[in-house]
Amino acid sequence: MTNKIVQPKTSIILFGATGDLAKRKLYPSIYSLFLSGKLSDNFVVIGAARRPWSDAELRENVKKAIEETHLSNERIDEFCQHFFYLPFDVTNTESYLKLKHKLEELEAKFEIPGNRIYYMAMAPQFFGTIAIQLKKEGVTQSEGWNRLVIEKPFGHDLPSAQKLNNEIREAFSEDQIYRIDHYLGKEMVQNIEVIRFANAIFEPLWNNRHISNIQITSSEVLGVEDRGGYYETSGALRDMVQNHLLQMVLLLSMDPPIRLATNEVRSEKIKVLRAIRPISTDEASDYFIRGQYAAGEISGSEVPGYRQEKNVKEDSTTETFVAGKLLIDNHRWAGVPFYVRTGKRMAVKSTKIVVQFKDLPLNVYTQKSEDMTIHPNLLVIHIQPDEGITLILNGKKVGLLGETIPVDLEFKNNSIDGVNTPEAYERLIYDCMLGDATNFAHWDEVNLSWALIDPISKAWAESNEEIEQYVSGTMGPKSSEQLLSNDGFKWWALKDL
Ligand code: NAD
Repeated sequence: MTNKIVQPKTSIILFGATGDLAKRKLYPSIYSLFLSGKLSDNFVVIGAARRPWSDAELRENVKKAIEETHLSNERIDEFCQHFFYLPFDVTNTESYLKLKHKLEELEAKFEIPGNRIYYMAMAPQFFGTIAIQLKKEGVTQSEGWNRLVIEKPFGHDLPSAQKLNNEIREAFSEDQIYRIDHYLGKEMVQNIEVIRFANAIFEPLWNNRHISNIQITSSEVLGVEDRGGYYETSGALRDMVQNHLLQMVLLLSMDPPIRLATNEVRSEKIKVLRAIRPISTDEASDYFIRGQYAAGEISGSEVPGYRQEKNVKEDSTTETFVAGKLLIDNHRWAGVPFYVRTGKRMAVKSTKIVVQFKDLPLNVYTQKSEDMTIHPNLLVIHIQPDEGITLILNGKKVGLLGETIPVDLEFKNNSIDGVNTPEAYERLIYDCMLGDATNFAHWDEVNLSWALIDPISKAWAESNEEIEQYVSGTMGPKSSEQLLSNDGFKWWALKDL
């Protein structure tokens, strides 16, 4: 089946155009869409930010950002002709009126029928103000569609998320709001649905009769770098678990949707979120543990501990590592723990899902000799840096003893020549242009996920216990191992998978 490429005619208004996200992710992604023919000539990008730049300065910066990527720069000048800059003060009415006029002028010139994406790539405290002002000053009253893209974090707890949502809902309806969770734009995260719903062999096994536990790990080798100030207000639970890791749990655990349509997928995700067992503040330590990196060694170089990082308090209790257990109380998953863990300064940079199948009811090999063990069957979904799947089965070890040995059936994108998977942002921006919100978070998902996470944050905020330290370059604190061994499981070593 070949699909004709749709080229939406769109204006993108990028709030925070001089910032880090715009430079590292958004400009290269929009350029990549341009190179692959997904943008017609009928598009403009208006960069809005505080600095008094000119169009030429913005274009120079866009060019520089793209030159730092692997993308060919053969059409870069042509691309940059679609970029315009507007010095912008988010609290000033005048800025919005100027934006309105600029949009009308450019839409006439580039023949764009008033379709507008407002992309919030600046500090979250401005999201609500901008949305309200856009409506108040009539910017959103165009002939075409108007969509709002919101970056993370969407609040820092349930009350702040509700407040932000109420503000943006004053100006945009839920179906105009695209809450970014860039994990949902990743090739292999989207592939979870394909693995589950396009293969006859997995779905019959995808339940508590055949799966013993599921482990999701997103580990980084880097520390907080120069984002200590931001990280101190966030921590791994809010930064990674509330959004990205929970979204992966939902994709792995939801029932098959009746159609791959936005509302159908969302409604299955919300159903499973509602079935996740709530964790009260009192019992938080039975389900979630935290840690903070201490000094250590990474690739032969010494690295400082979290408390020694720039803009981090000397006695900070911010967690740089989290491991947790989620239980889903429904027919499909009752009794199957979903373990999640994420952290900075860990031994490997990796995002992987390990689905561990139950042991056989009778192991005839162990019966034959106690030395013979059978490896559990594992399905490993590699999200990054490798992309692919590995199915670990047992085979016969060559020789006369009749021993078994784990064998891998492996498929990796990176090992296929010419495959260059698109950036998550590229896919999500294009989805937004097409009006496809499937891979964005609905308010109900955000709402329920904060409700789940808040009691854990509260337990940690109120705790007098010293935060457990782990040596940089390891896979986290001891209590993370304990969390699984209490249930008779262990984290599978990522480097071996
Ligand atoms: P940044 O600090 O690098 O950029 C902020 C931008 O906002 C700049 O363009 C600045 O000029 C503009 N700005 C700030 N105050 C303004 C004001 N009063 N009026 C007009 N413009 C103003 O931030 P960033 O790292 O690009 O992050 C932007 C957003 O994206 C944040 O919500 C962040 O949480 C989110 N995010 C960033 C990353 C990343 O990799 N950088 C990843 C995920 C999410």
